[in-house]
Amino acid sequence: MSVQSAAASLTIERLTRRFGQQLAVDEVSLSVAPGEMIVLLGPSGCGKTTTLRVIAGFVQPSAGDVRVNGESILHLPAYKREMGIVFQSYALFPHLTAQRNIAFGLEMRRMPRAAIDSRVAEMLRLVKLHDFAERLPRQLSGGQQQRVALARALAIHPKLLLLDEPLSNLDASLRQEMAREIRILQQSGGITTVMVTHDQAEAMAMADRLVVMREGRVEQIGRQEDLYERPATPFVARFIGQSNILSGRLEAGAHLALGPATNLSLAGRYAAAGSATLAIRPESIRLAPPSSNDARAQGTVELCTYLGAVVEHLVRLGPEASVLVRGPGLGPDAAPRFAAGARVALHWSAAEERVFDESDRPLPAAMPALGRTAAF
Ligand code: ATP
Repeated sequence: MSVQSAAASLTIERLTRRFGQQLAVDEVSLSVAPGEMIVLLGPSGCGKTTTLRVIAGFVQPSAGDVRVNGESILHLPAYKREMGIVFQSYALFPHLTAQRNIAFGLEMRRMPRAAIDSRVAEMLRLVKLHDFAERLPRQLSGGQQQRVALARALAIHPKLLLLDEPLSNLDASLRQEMAREIRILQQSGGITTVMVTHDQAEAMAMADRLVVMREGRVEQIGRQEDLYERPATPFVARFIGQSNILSGRLEAGAHLALGPATNLSLAGRYAAAGSATLAIRPESIRLAPPSSNDARAQGTVELCTYLGAVVEHLVRLGPEASVLVRGPGLGPDAAPRFAAGARVALHWSAAEERVFDESDRPLPAAMPALGRTAAF
């Protein structure tokens, strides 16, 4: 089935948009390869929707450029940009049936009737709504309306597909199903796509690459592995998955003093001193009885929570800090469980810890045991 368009590349260069004093988008640059799906991700107000709206042509930038296949599109009005757009609210015409909604963009382009009919039928099959062609939007479920919106966006063979929080009005189980369907359609059609979401799990599940935004700026661009395993800043570490973020003073390149009575020994060695932040994933920490040697820290279990597939411990390291520890709940590698009040030792390796300097830049680690520099 064809949703194939000649896949386009998208380049955004130093895009800036002010609203009065407010800098909504601040020199954002990124490139999207033909057929690639990029997800803009970040907390509310970070500028992702404004970026998408500039690409769509609904908002003019204050500075910068947007290019499709190398050519600036800023002079083109939205309707001439050949972009398929799916909004959070679906924005279907309430008085038009599913098939008339899908046909709308084709009618606007004055496509011959027979070609429209065949394209609409193809789209209805693609989104599995061929039995619902005559229904009005209010006679369709949220997921079905979403599919109509997607079919309408794809029907015009868009150069780019723009998705603005497309799943946020669906319930949790339908979200996952729709996320997979959209991703399969996007990949099989090779459609260059930009999606906006504030949901990191959704972003991780759907993107080829993610763009983490914060206060109008790009914090990091990368594949899931890059962001998860090598976050560029503590903000990314916190935003992508879960991380324990511990701030303190780096001493002798090997210890992090979290407070007067709370110290931990780092797994790597760092050629720096002063304020520093450690980011460590809950699943990177292993707990053992306190007698074990070479522990990174000691602590007291405050809470042990068995969640089936995983078991979580909240461990207090001292008055200033506690960490979340997560391990497999089942199977031969199941993590040992410790009751509240138990003293435990915490272990992790240099490859699993990430230390940032006072400007939130990652510090390279030398791993003493291996005698080489970690590839951070
Ligand atoms: P959300 O997830 O809440 O939609 P977002 O990351 O998409 O947030 P934007 O909608 O791009 O963020 O908004 C970025 C900033 O620009 C916000 O501070 C917002 O208040 C401001 N902003 C956006 N549109 C306008 C506008 N039309 N007029 C004034 N300020 C605006």
